[in-house]
Amino acid sequence: MSYSRPERHSFYNTSLWKRTRAAYFKSVNGLCERCLKAGFVVPGNIVHHLEEITDDNVNDPNVTINFEKLECLCYKHHNKDHKKTDLPTNKGVSFVNGKVVLNYDEEE
Ligand SMILES: [Zn+2]
Ligand SMILES: [Zn+2]
Repeated sequence: MSYSRPERHSFYNTSLWKRTRAAYFKSVNGLCERCLKAGFVVPGNIVHHLEEITDDNVNDPNVTINFEKLECLCYKHHNKDHKKTDLPTNKGVSFVNGKVVLNYDEEE
């Protein structure tokens, strides 16, 4: 589920982040907030920091785990923010026993 991103901060490996990410994901019903604003119900894939995590702010919970500074995004919107052109495949949704299961990435 993870692909290499050299710029990924080690903060994303912490259990603090994993808990925060899961809680935030739940709080927005696992949907891409930008798609939702545009009227589309699209599963979110990544919980994104509005403020990029750096060594300078990684110890500031106001930045790292503040729900106001987080955004749940689909791959399309997340890549847009990071100006990436390599669109990952549509693996945000899978079907288990006929039920839609949302998966999200390890990071951001
Ligand atoms: Zn979106
Ligand atoms: Zn991001």
